Amino acid sequence: MQGFVYDQPATRVIFGVGTLERLAEEVKRLGAKRALVLATPEQRKDAEDASRRLGEMSAGVYAEAVMHVPIETARKAREEAARLGADCYVAVGGGSTVGLGKAIALESGLPILAVPTTYAGSEMTPIYGITEAGVKKTGKDRKVLPKTVIYDVNLTLSLPAKIAGPSGMNAMAHLVEGLYAQDANPIISLLAVEGIRTLAVSLPVVVKEPQNLVARSGALYGAWLGGTVLGAVGMALHHKLCHTLGGSFNLPHAEVHTVILPYAAAYNQQAAAQELNRAAEALGAKSAAQGIYDLSVKIGAPVALKDIGMPFDGLDRAAEIATQNPYYNPRPVDYAGVRQLLEDAYYGKRPA
Ligand code: NAD
Repeated sequence: MQGFVYDQPATRVIFGVGTLERLAEEVKRLGAKRALVLATPEQRKDAEDASRRLGEMSAGVYAEAVMHVPIETARKAREEAARLGADCYVAVGGGSTVGLGKAIALESGLPILAVPTTYAGSEMTPIYGITEAGVKKTGKDRKVLPKTVIYDVNLTLSLPAKIAGPSGMNAMAHLVEGLYAQDANPIISLLAVEGIRTLAVSLPVVVKEPQNLVARSGALYGAWLGGTVLGAVGMALHHKLCHTLGGSFNLPHAEVHTVILPYAAAYNQQAAAQELNRAAEALGAKSAAQGIYDLSVKIGAPVALKDIGMPFDGLDRAAEIATQNPYYNPRPVDYAGVRQLLEDAYYGKRPA
């Protein structure tokens, strides 16, 4: 076995059905007295419910979170949090809401309690992103890692199939790339394999039977593992490509992950054969690339860049941006290879 470093910061996790009941006791446990509840405008009701549960410990609701944390939104939220004297942030929602909590905590250093309602996994990572003048800058800081995460399966029951499927594939992407990360380690790889297996089984049921608690629990558990892997080890070509496509072409986050992943796996297949074969086995497929692609088809998620708003004449520029700065990937990254990968993903043909 090769040597490795395992450096996993701790987060307290409460997982189950109906766990939101423990919100007040968990906020108290953090030593907080005035929690500001964050959400998107669409999830205001969830935030108001959380605020009611907090009673006197609620500083109020701020339901203005939007995708990719624009700096203006972050500034307004920081001002509101300070004005209300908040000493903790409760983020009820997906990656956009948790991201807003991180943007506030980055400045104040105050704790976040996350209540995730999608499968993006941001709640388990010290990674934050803020968009300024159309450019999303990301960074890592342990002070933005939520101190406590309450996974309540009930809150995911309302997640419609068209969001749930791609969101689950976003988690899948963290798990697959975690296996061949430069700083991969055996414990995180165990979590990754377990997560891939769990998502492969639960996602097809989630989109067919949205109220199925067993499948919803499996998907949320897989998402937790996905977030843990993303927070613990570095990502590679797949995440770089998705960042480029999302940032420069304004493509929807989870859908881009869904479309690119099979082609990124095919690109890396030879260079990371052992790791990707573990993924294939967990998917119950001959190859990871085909297994991921077939799962996307099965859950009705998009499989082609052309169907999610990518212009064909943007492929050259995307390949240029994605290959500009050298970064780790099992197979060296070159323009011609990445340009081909993007064209394959553009048409969405099943990987060979
Ligand atoms: P999102 O948070 O933008 O949510 C998508 C939509 O679904 C929103 O309108 C939201 O209100 C709604 N929604 C969420 N949960 C719902 C539910 N249970 N029922 C009904 N509607 C619900 O989407 P996302 O994919 O979770 O997050 C994407 C963002 O998160 C991106 O900006 C991405 O960059 C970021 N992200 C960050 C990290 C990290 O580690 N920092 C990890 C993953 C994603």
